[in-house]
Amino acid sequence: MPAELKKVCGHCKKEKSLSDFYHNSTKSDYHSGICKTCQKDVNEKNR
Ligand SMILES: [Zn+2]
Repeated sequence: MPAELKKVCGHCKKEKSLSDFYHNSTKSDYHSGICKTCQKDVNEKNR
């Protein structure tokens, strides 16, 4: 199992560990395009 998988958040453009992204089976890499912090932010704005 790969130890350090990183992904750039599509929202804050910061490189974060995959564990900082929510699991999303609809995405090709099975992770959300934005990090947990940004996801929370977006969810609050989309209410
Ligand atoms: Zn982010």
